[in-house]
Amino acid sequence: MTVICWFRNDLRLRDNSALIAAAKASDDVIPLYILDDKQYRPLGGAQRWWLHHSLTSLAADLDKYGLQLLLRNGNSKKILAELADTHNITGLYWNQVFEPKKLAADNAIRKFFESNNIEVDVFNDNLLNHPDDIKNKSGQYFKVFTPYWRTASEFVVDEPPRQKPRTLAQRTKRRGDKLNDWDLLPTRPDWSGGFDCWQPGEAGAHKALGQFVDAHVHEYLDKRDRPDLPGTSQLSPYIHFGELSPRQIWHSVKQAEQSRSGMAKGAAGFLRQLGWREFSYHLLYHFPEFPTDNFRAEFDKFSWDNDKQQLKTWQQGQTGYPIVDAGMRQLWHTGYMHNRVRMIVASFLTKDLFIDWRKGEAWFWDTLVDADLANNVAGWQWVAGSGADASPYFRIFNPTTQGEKFDPDGDYVRQWVPELADLPNKFIHNPSAAPKAILDEANVILGETYPWPMVDHKEARETALARYKDVK
Ligand SMILES: Cc1cc2nc3c(=O)[nH]c(=O)nc-3n(C[C@H](O)[C@H](O)[C@H](O)COP(=O)(O)OP(=O)(O)OC[C@H]3O[C@@H](n4cnc5c(N)ncnc54)[C@H](O)[C@@H]3O)c2cc1C
Repeated sequence: MTVICWFRNDLRLRDNSALIAAAKASDDVIPLYILDDKQYRPLGGAQRWWLHHSLTSLAADLDKYGLQLLLRNGNSKKILAELADTHNITGLYWNQVFEPKKLAADNAIRKFFESNNIEVDVFNDNLLNHPDDIKNKSGQYFKVFTPYWRTASEFVVDEPPRQKPRTLAQRTKRRGDKLNDWDLLPTRPDWSGGFDCWQPGEAGAHKALGQFVDAHVHEYLDKRDRPDLPGTSQLSPYIHFGELSPRQIWHSVKQAEQSRSGMAKGAAGFLRQLGWREFSYHLLYHFPEFPTDNFRAEFDKFSWDNDKQQLKTWQQGQTGYPIVDAGMRQLWHTGYMHNRVRMIVASFLTKDLFIDWRKGEAWFWDTLVDADLANNVAGWQWVAGSGADASPYFRIFNPTTQGEKFDPDGDYVRQWVPELADLPNKFIHNPSAAPKAILDEANVILGETYPWPMVDHKEARETALARYKDVK
């Protein structure tokens, strides 16, 4: 009896229901990962980098059991069918990925295997609640976060995560692809130098979770909006690749809350953010066109300018608005951007430059290590105003005052926009308002060492309001 544990966005050994089921079913388990990049939206560059290291780490962890991670590249159904044919497979186990196209393809795989008398078991380890389980009083899915989370958070069962399987065995090794042949790492040029702040893989994930729960979760609500402080968990890529399950995070935070006083508010605030992730998947599951279509159809009428040069200027962090440029450069160098700054740069792209949210979403998709279909699309549509429960159309972030409020000492800007580092705090978020003498002293020459603001925010705001009124 040979069974397959099909790894997806669950690149971990602990608390992995599919792996536990496979280990129970047979003493000949094939751990399989398929790079199926053609049927679905191809992975972005930063995700490819993460995936390479995450698979390396998973393969090493499996090797400790004597198991070889089988890597295959191509159409999942074809590869699974071929393995079933050649290896007398009796069981197939995976943890569900809640992306509409994958759900549909997975159903076809399940049917195909079951019709061939192969046992298939699919688990939900990726979300705290299955999107089908959370309905409002009229039996519909939720479109507003607060009532969603009121219901969904009550549904979460705080159960201890499961351990790695005690025994896990493989009798014969199969030949698969070599990870290096997948060319997941960038070479010409290698832009990943700044990514060494991350430790992809299960060990890195637990280290990051432990540090956050020990040192930061209690003050999460006070610091979560400050990009200049280590106030958030930075767990998003580990969660996206499933190196940690949401159940593990939930339980770890709840345990800390019970054992230490003064934790309740921070813990609830943090777990509510996990709720936003659940809500994003809830929307994606029930509205499968979410990645391409405005959730609010009236936004189809919104007129975008989509100026290519302006898009490039934004991508390169050369807008002349320091907090926007800091965010875009942090993203490029590290594959990550703080949530507050994601909102500021997204508002700037859609409401100051009138560039379609889909173009911003595509750039984030390529550059974020945590790029995630549900969260990215939900984030962009929320900021653009086209999403469910979206930010109201008149909420247009002022990049200067946002910077002053959330990076009050300018430390975040100084880190990522070093050419402004010597400006005093008063002007760090608004260099074009600084007197010439101050600019001279800080060695800032506007238009040369740092750009003038690429648009006038006040004017852009008026235009945005007028365009949004048309849509309403
Ligand atoms: C325009 C835009 C694009 C975004 N794109 C992504 C994306 O591709 N991938 C992604 O994981 N998040 C995305 N987010 C949500 C959020 O910015 C990140 O999850 C968060 O910044 C990750 O940092 P953290 O792990 O320190 O978060 P924490 O504050 O520590 O939160 C813990 C976890 O909760 C989840 N979470 C937190 N905030 C949100 C949110 N607003 N929506 C959904 N889930 C949330 C994440 O899994 C996160 O790791 C986006 C937000 C915006 C505004």
